Amino acid sequence: MKDTSGTSGASGAGTSRTSGTSGAVAPRGGGPSGETAHEAYSFACMKCGYAWEQTYDIEHHVPPTGEPFVTYYTDGKRVPSPLKHPTCVNCDGHLLRIMRSGRVATAQEALR
Ligand SMILES: [Zn+2]
Repeated sequence: MKDTSGTSGASGAGTSRTSGTSGAVAPRGGGPSGETAHEAYSFACMKCGYAWEQTYDIEHHVPPTGEPFVTYYTDGKRVPSPLKHPTCVNCDGHLLRIMRSGRVATAQEALR
Protein backbone atom coordinates (compact mmCIF):
# COMPACT_ATOMS: atom_id res chain seq x y z
CA MET A 1 0.00 0.00 0.00
CA LYS A 2 1.23 3.47 -0.77
CA ASP A 3 -0.60 5.78 1.55
CA THR A 4 2.31 8.22 1.46
CA SER A 5 1.65 9.26 -2.13
CA GLY A 6 -0.64 12.12 -1.27
CA THR A 7 0.52 14.16 -4.25
CA SER A 8 -1.37 11.93 -6.66
CA GLY A 9 -4.60 13.39 -5.36
CA ALA A 10 -3.41 16.92 -6.07
CA SER A 11 -2.49 16.13 -9.67
CA GLY A 12 -5.85 14.49 -10.22
CA ALA A 13 -7.58 17.68 -9.23
CA GLY A 14 -5.52 19.56 -11.81
CA THR A 15 -6.49 17.33 -14.68
CA SER A 16 -10.16 17.65 -13.84
CA ARG A 17 -9.94 21.40 -14.51
CA THR A 18 -8.61 21.01 -18.05
CA SER A 19 -11.65 18.99 -19.10
CA GLY A 20 -13.75 22.13 -18.73
CA THR A 21 -11.91 24.00 -21.49
CA SER A 22 -13.51 21.89 -24.22
CA GLY A 23 -16.85 23.48 -23.45
CA ALA A 24 -15.37 26.97 -23.79
CA VAL A 25 -15.10 26.63 -27.58
CA ALA A 26 -18.15 28.61 -28.60
CA PRO A 27 -19.14 29.32 -32.22
CA ARG A 28 -18.23 32.82 -33.30
CA GLY A 29 -21.06 35.14 -34.15
CA GLY A 30 -21.24 35.66 -37.88
CA GLY A 31 -23.65 35.55 -40.76
CA PRO A 32 -26.62 33.24 -40.74
CA SER A 33 -25.25 31.07 -43.53
CA GLY A 34 -21.57 31.12 -42.77
CA GLU A 35 -18.62 33.32 -42.16
CA THR A 36 -17.63 36.36 -44.16
CA ALA A 37 -13.98 36.95 -44.72
CA HIS A 38 -12.31 40.06 -46.03
CA GLU A 39 -9.43 39.25 -48.29
CA ALA A 40 -7.45 41.26 -50.75
CA TYR A 41 -5.78 39.89 -53.83
CA SER A 42 -3.12 41.41 -55.97
CA PHE A 43 -3.38 41.00 -59.72
CA ALA A 44 -0.68 41.44 -62.27
CA CYS A 45 -1.43 41.20 -65.97
CA MET A 46 1.08 39.15 -67.92
CA LYS A 47 -0.03 40.81 -71.13
CA CYS A 48 0.14 44.52 -70.46
CA GLY A 49 1.92 44.59 -67.14
CA TYR A 50 -0.89 46.33 -65.31
CA ALA A 51 -1.08 45.58 -61.59
CA TRP A 52 -3.77 46.36 -59.06
CA GLU A 53 -5.24 45.19 -55.83
CA GLN A 54 -8.84 44.38 -55.02
CA THR A 55 -10.50 43.64 -51.71
CA TYR A 56 -13.24 41.05 -51.61
CA ASP A 57 -15.89 40.14 -49.11
CA ILE A 58 -15.94 36.38 -49.27
CA GLU A 59 -18.94 34.55 -47.92
CA HIS A 60 -18.50 30.92 -47.09
CA HIS A 61 -21.58 28.83 -47.59
CA VAL A 62 -21.99 25.31 -46.32
CA PRO A 63 -25.26 23.90 -47.61
CA PRO A 64 -26.76 20.85 -45.86
CA THR A 65 -26.44 18.95 -49.12
CA GLY A 66 -23.81 19.48 -51.75
CA GLU A 67 -20.38 20.93 -51.59
CA PRO A 68 -19.42 24.10 -49.78
CA PHE A 69 -18.98 27.14 -51.96
CA VAL A 70 -17.99 30.76 -51.63
CA THR A 71 -19.37 33.93 -53.13
CA TYR A 72 -17.36 37.07 -53.77
CA TYR A 73 -18.49 40.63 -53.27
CA THR A 74 -16.82 43.88 -54.10
CA ASP A 75 -18.43 47.07 -52.82
CA GLY A 76 -21.58 45.12 -52.01
CA LYS A 77 -21.96 43.71 -55.51
CA ARG A 78 -21.57 40.06 -56.23
CA VAL A 79 -18.80 39.27 -58.64
CA PRO A 80 -17.52 36.04 -60.18
CA SER A 81 -14.62 34.35 -58.51
CA PRO A 82 -11.49 36.32 -59.34
CA LEU A 83 -9.46 33.16 -58.96
CA LYS A 84 -11.38 31.23 -61.61
CA HIS A 85 -12.00 33.87 -64.26
CA PRO A 86 -9.62 36.75 -63.75
CA THR A 87 -9.82 39.56 -66.22
CA CYS A 88 -7.42 42.43 -66.62
CA VAL A 89 -9.21 45.72 -66.01
CA ASN A 90 -6.82 47.43 -68.40
CA CYS A 91 -6.63 45.21 -71.49
CA ASP A 92 -9.28 42.53 -70.80
CA GLY A 93 -6.57 39.92 -70.85
CA HIS A 94 -7.03 36.67 -69.01
CA LEU A 95 -3.42 35.81 -68.37
CA LEU A 96 -3.09 37.13 -64.88
CA ARG A 97 -0.87 36.45 -61.99
CA ILE A 98 -2.78 36.40 -58.72
CA MET A 99 -1.16 36.88 -55.37
CA ARG A 100 -2.42 37.28 -51.88
CA SER A 101 -2.73 40.82 -50.60
CA GLY A 102 0.20 42.76 -49.31
CA ARG A 103 2.72 42.35 -52.09
CA VAL A 104 1.47 45.19 -54.24
CA ALA A 105 1.11 47.48 -51.25
CA THR A 106 4.59 46.58 -50.15
CA ALA A 107 5.94 47.32 -53.61
CA GLN A 108 4.15 50.68 -53.70
CA GLU A 109 5.53 51.62 -50.32
CA ALA A 110 9.00 50.79 -51.53
CA LEU A 111 8.57 53.22 -54.43
CA ARG A 112 7.81 56.10 -52.11
ZN1 LIG B 1 -3.69 43.65 -69.09
